[in-house]
Amino acid sequence: MIRISGIAVLLLFLAACNNPKNTDEAASTPAAPAEPALVTVPAFNADSAYSYVKAQVDFGPRTPNSAAHDKCATWLANKLKAWADTVYIQKYTATAFDGLKMKSTNIIAAINPQATTRVFISSHWDTRPIADEDDHDRDKPINGADDGGSSTAVAMEIARTIHQQRPEIGVDIILFDSEDYGQPDDSKLPKMQDSWCLGSQYWASHPHVGGYRADFGINLDMVGTADAAFPREGVSATMADWVSQYVWHTAERLGYSSLFVNRIFGQVTDDHYYVNQIIHIPTVDVIRYGEDGFGHHHHTHKDNLDLISKNTLDAVGKVMVQVIYQYNAEKAKKS
Ligand SMILES: [Zn+2]
Repeated sequence: MIRISGIAVLLLFLAACNNPKNTDEAASTPAAPAEPALVTVPAFNADSAYSYVKAQVDFGPRTPNSAAHDKCATWLANKLKAWADTVYIQKYTATAFDGLKMKSTNIIAAINPQATTRVFISSHWDTRPIADEDDHDRDKPINGADDGGSSTAVAMEIARTIHQQRPEIGVDIILFDSEDYGQPDDSKLPKMQDSWCLGSQYWASHPHVGGYRADFGINLDMVGTADAAFPREGVSATMADWVSQYVWHTAERLGYSSLFVNRIFGQVTDDHYYVNQIIHIPTVDVIRYGEDGFGHHHHTHKDNLDLISKNTLDAVGKVMVQVIYQYNAEKAKKS
């Protein structure tokens, strides 16, 4: 994903305004109830997650209308069928900024499909057909080990993990297609609005089951490199603030506050944006963002398996699994 706009300063100002300034007022507020203890969760396996990154990269670039793309879709769906109760294959044709008709497939794996309390983890699984941030071979597709591969691998491993100790709530793993065929900045064509994230735009307008609802969603994107850090993304902090706080606080409780940095940066137009806008499910984005933005490998031929760190995959996976089971425990207590 690529778009970012700088509203960080405004958001930081707003956040600062929320801090209680009147200490008397703060002192008279009753003490908050004790936080629920961290619940025991099944083990997320980083070796397994890494093997799913490699398996995807081994197919070659997963660009729509390619054989590698179709083979990878079949592989993803078959893996998920072993762990989920129902796997929905949502086929659609997306029209790219340049008019290309992309044969696309969203894949949704449902665990406990009957449960009315649900959460979802999502990722895009397609890869960018060009390397427009590279100096060389800009017209060739990237391998997308991090961008597409890492987040899909973590989502797959979450499905395998929770299958071993099923929660009571429903969990959906949603793999969006045709996210990364967005219009390059140097395109000579007329500007097409909303050219990124075509799979999530389609799904949010045509969910896999009618009237689909989830309490919240977490979208993962570029979550695999050794140099990753995940500050809180601005759309998430605006449109799904409680989810953003819940996820980053859970990460802190697990000791991952240096990776899940509790600082808000600008707004990214990623799949979570369209989920929030179109289907109104509060959804956050966990996306790599550092002083170098999305990283030197972003949309270049450097986006290869050698950048992928099991430690990073492990941390992201463990935080996601903990969030799912904390929420499950809190819901079970109330029902
Ligand atoms: Zn991308």
